[in-house]
Amino acid sequence: MLRRTLLAASRSPALRTAVVTAPVTRRVVRRFVAGDDSERALEAASRLLSDGLLVSLDRLGEDVRDRAGAEATVRAYEKLLPELPGDTEVSVKLTALGQALDEDLALANARRVCAAAARAGTTVTLDMEDHTTVGSTLRVLDALRGEYPWVGAVVQAQLRRAEEYCAGLAYEGSRVRLCKGAYDPPPEVAFTRRSEVDKSYVRCLRTLMAGPGYPMVATHDPRLIEIADALRLIRGRDSGSFEYQMLYGIRPDEQLRLAETGARVRVYVPYGSEWYGYLVRRLAERPANLAFFLRALLTR
Ligand code: FAD
Repeated sequence: MLRRTLLAASRSPALRTAVVTAPVTRRVVRRFVAGDDSERALEAASRLLSDGLLVSLDRLGEDVRDRAGAEATVRAYEKLLPELPGDTEVSVKLTALGQALDEDLALANARRVCAAAARAGTTVTLDMEDHTTVGSTLRVLDALRGEYPWVGAVVQAQLRRAEEYCAGLAYEGSRVRLCKGAYDPPPEVAFTRRSEVDKSYVRCLRTLMAGPGYPMVATHDPRLIEIADALRLIRGRDSGSFEYQMLYGIRPDEQLRLAETGARVRVYVPYGSEWYGYLVRRLAERPANLAFFLRALLTR
């Protein structure tokens, strides 16, 4: 209920202004976002790499409504990609590349980001956003994979069709990030109870771990991490054949612990000034985060 209210409130321009301009918000943002610019993000990436972790950098921004904004996103990625240290890839939101204006524009822009990634010798994962964009995102993914087979997909276990998406994506060379889903889709298309989402996650995990692709297990949930570990043993997968993924600032000790067991662990590192939507999704995920935010407001 709280989650739904927060996600709905996140669309209010007045609330957005109030939150973004509150000086105290910065302290909370710093916990989840590496910094306002690519320099800070690259520093954070280097620190994580030196701890034995892998990185996916995400330039924050979504729901771009004009061509100039989409062009700015492409140029930012084109500038960032040649500078990436170690095993760092990028995550990209198609709505930041103009998906809401025109799918073909988003595809053309995503091609340019992929070309820059190919020159830099790294990969791109297409984040999955609001349920209304899933069909379009899968079409763009399909078109991109013809030329760049390493483009990563995301499946949100909360969607009723998640298993079907996983089955369709579980082929040789396919990189698939499995997450619970951070948006608030209607019950016609999504499971609403946490237990149902978790069960869906496990079914998807089974499909991906049994297939020949490269699963990217994106969760902080200790039970799901244990299940993933059990499934990789059952399937005889070695530690190079899949990876865990977690968000910057969330369960950092667990990230290190898993990496110390020899697992590949990638940290998703967002950066940039357009952090509002991302922050609200993180607050909505966990009441304790909201309490942290409110406490910071009261003790400023
Ligand atoms: P939960 O049940 O939410 O959390 C399990 C435990 O993890 C909690 O008890 C707590 O200890 C810890 N935890 C979880 N969230 C937080 C938090 N915000 N703050 C502090 N502790 C927390 N969603 C999309 O819809 N599209 C995407 O493309 C996408 N990409 C992602 C990429 C990565 C690498 C990750 C890790 C997540 C991504 N997500 C994406 C978000 C995801 O869908 C979930 O909303 C988010 O990961 C929380 O779910 P959980 O699996 O961690 O489980």
